[in-house]
Amino acid sequence: MKIAILSRNENLYSTRRLKEAGLERGHEIDVIDTTHCYMDITSNSPTVRYYGEQLPHYDAVIPRIGASITFYGTAVVRQFEMMNTFSVNESVAISRSRDKLRSMQLLSRKGIGLPKTGFAKHPDNISDLIANVGGAPLVIKLLEGTQGIGVVLADTEKAASSIIEAFMGVKSNILVQEYIKEAGGADIRCFVVGDKVVAAMKRQAPAGEFRSNLHRGGTAELVKLSKDERATAVSAAKAMGLNVCGVDILRSARGPVVMEVNSSPGLEGIENSTGKDVAGIIIEFIEKNAKNNSTRTRGK
Ligand code: ADP
Ligand code: GLU
Repeated sequence: MKIAILSRNENLYSTRRLKEAGLERGHEIDVIDTTHCYMDITSNSPTVRYYGEQLPHYDAVIPRIGASITFYGTAVVRQFEMMNTFSVNESVAISRSRDKLRSMQLLSRKGIGLPKTGFAKHPDNISDLIANVGGAPLVIKLLEGTQGIGVVLADTEKAASSIIEAFMGVKSNILVQEYIKEAGGADIRCFVVGDKVVAAMKRQAPAGEFRSNLHRGGTAELVKLSKDERATAVSAAKAMGLNVCGVDILRSARGPVVMEVNSSPGLEGIENSTGKDVAGIIIEFIEKNAKNNSTRTRGK
């Protein structure tokens, strides 16, 4: 097959591994820098141009669209979909996953376990907002944060309201969430391909920290999932319409709750902590599923 990896950097671990896994299985693999693609979006025979040339027809694209280029990146993926190229994750599903509010509303509609969560921009009654998610201690998050930055634990209602006021002062969208204390500073990354969890790791925060992000000094190790956790991760992926994704779960007293679904999950942490050939599993998924014209939404 002819497969394109849409990635800004060919040297990133995930990109390198996907390329290697594709070549090992006898495919032709091109790494295409999404931001350098351009196209005539009004033509009724859609094409993508790259460095002055028209790109060939690909059987499949693997979008690795970073959060900072979501808008342009999903337009490029959509163009490939219009050319009947199979995209491992569809443009619509990627856009959906980048909007935390929309994602949580969608997951909640499907009855998937979530931490009790409130959203706000200009709450005129902060104590009601806090009471509405069960009171302190609670976690306050900047909607635009990544790698655990902008995620704060407020022990008391007083602390919570001053943090909310401060975030409001800088005009940010915020999310106020029940603190899942019993998770013990750990979260579970479930790597889903198709309708299966193919690898899972537990990330543990260092002592005195509740955020388990590897960027915050967390460590990762292989973990065995319960049936319920597997089912939750697979349902979350399905609800989002993502074929390949990372579903982050907290182990709460009332069962698994989904924190986030990531449509471009990194391969390095999960391959290293589980020893699994996740890149190979993604290529095998493409071999089974990349049929011409099989794209569901084509950006609609
Ligand atoms: P980011 O998207 O910036 O990584 P997250 O929302 O994933 O932010 O939060 C970072 C970390 O903080 C999580 O990996 C988890 O360990 C911890 N955390 C986040 N929300 C909660 C919560 N409601 N209860 C307990 N721990 C949480
Ligand atoms: N047109 C898209 C679809 O039917 C949008 C739906 C959505 O993301 O809510 O999948």
